[in-house]
Amino acid sequence: MYLSKYFLPNLKETPKEAEIVSHRLMLRSGMVRQQSAGIYSWLPLGLKVLRKIEGIIRDEQNRAGAVEILMPTIQSADLWRESGRYDVYGKEMLRITDRHKRDMLFGPTNEEMVTDIFRSYVRSYKDLPLNLYHIQWKFRDEVRPRFGVMRGREFLMKDAYSFDLDAEQARVAYNRMFVSYLRTFERMGVKAIPMRADTGPIGGDMSHEFLILADTGESGVFCHRDYLNLPVPSGDVDFDNADQLQEIVSTWTGPYAATDEMHDESEWQSVAKDDQLAARGIEVGHIFHFGTKYSDAMNAKVAGPDGAEHPVHMGSYGIGPSRLVGAIIEASHDENGIIWPESVAPFDLGLINLKSGDADTDAACENIYTSLTNAGLDVLYDDTDQRAGGKFARMDLIGLPNQLIVGPRGLANGEIELKNRKTGARQSLTIEAAINQLGGK
Ligand code: ATP
Ligand code: MG
Repeated sequence: MYLSKYFLPNLKETPKEAEIVSHRLMLRSGMVRQQSAGIYSWLPLGLKVLRKIEGIIRDEQNRAGAVEILMPTIQSADLWRESGRYDVYGKEMLRITDRHKRDMLFGPTNEEMVTDIFRSYVRSYKDLPLNLYHIQWKFRDEVRPRFGVMRGREFLMKDAYSFDLDAEQARVAYNRMFVSYLRTFERMGVKAIPMRADTGPIGGDMSHEFLILADTGESGVFCHRDYLNLPVPSGDVDFDNADQLQEIVSTWTGPYAATDEMHDESEWQSVAKDDQLAARGIEVGHIFHFGTKYSDAMNAKVAGPDGAEHPVHMGSYGIGPSRLVGAIIEASHDENGIIWPESVAPFDLGLINLKSGDADTDAACENIYTSLTNAGLDVLYDDTDQRAGGKFARMDLIGLPNQLIVGPRGLANGEIELKNRKTGARQSLTIEAAINQLGGK
């Protein structure tokens, strides 16, 4: 992409309303624009990151055996009356009346709708296990939308729903998602720690929140330091092997980890002082087993091997892709701007032309751009006629993993410069060597 043809509306001033660094950086780098409180337009750079995050989530959900669907944002109130949640959900739900005076709503979550889909088609235990997910916009009229996309009113969610014949199989379904989440966050270059969460009236140990440690997090967290180094399961986990899944989950739920809501001071005191990590965290995922709560209320049953009808056991599994964009920045930035992990970076590389309009420099840049693009890299080429200082600052701000800097002085010696955004390390290379090094990856 040629920057001169792109839409990258950077802000010079730091917007006053932005209280935390990720929000400031997202506004300054032109990733999002606020349209109303907690409601954002995604500009090209932000949208690219959001799509990469979605891609990783989709990949790992599919690997774990979940099947993608797409449910609408607007739902009928009738389904919610059936489950009994229409009246109890409260002011967070955006209620809408259509022209026929029918009660509708903008979905804050989809348990009712997916249960309705399930009961319309699935009749037998032979069709289980089943896990359906979608990645769709939600609306929750949060009392205090803040921190940009981290606590929006309209936000993107991946929500998956599992269906099983009994509690034992529901645990396997839960473990599948648990393991898939460990891989999902690892691939995004962040460390998200599973912490026990409130299971409400159902009880048991099958609810976890996944939190990224960051000073600006809204939750207080207490966890054992071991979590920082636990091995993340590799891509060849067998999601049909219940024992293997349970072993991974046991490893990852063994040491103490809880948010302030679930914190148990006496258990905490049994963790050695040196192993205690008390910090703040951002909730980026939440998995939950709720048994037959919705299937009982909405009459979703399957015939079991015994021939009798059984209410289906369910769980739900959320991740916030739009919140993750901010959370990753909270976890990865410096005083000059964002430092994207490679897997979610909006472009792989920034190419800086230090003297646009100079025939030799332009030709060298175009040659590099074409070679790297052909090698499959997504390159943002700053071909504008801005001065060098501004170009450097912008590239650092938007945080692409690598920068290639090309100017007449270096070219006179046959060299260009490669800068690593994260380490700041600089290397002088011939054009050919740079292309081989980057394009050969
Ligand atoms: P929170 O406690 O932060 O309000 P929640 O517990 O209400 O979140 P869930 O219902 O568990 O959220 O939703 C699943 C995921 O959706 C969360 O883990 C989070 O990543 C994301 N999410 C929830 N609310 C928001 C929001 N207002 N803005 C952005 N993402 C959100
Ligand atoms: Mg939650």
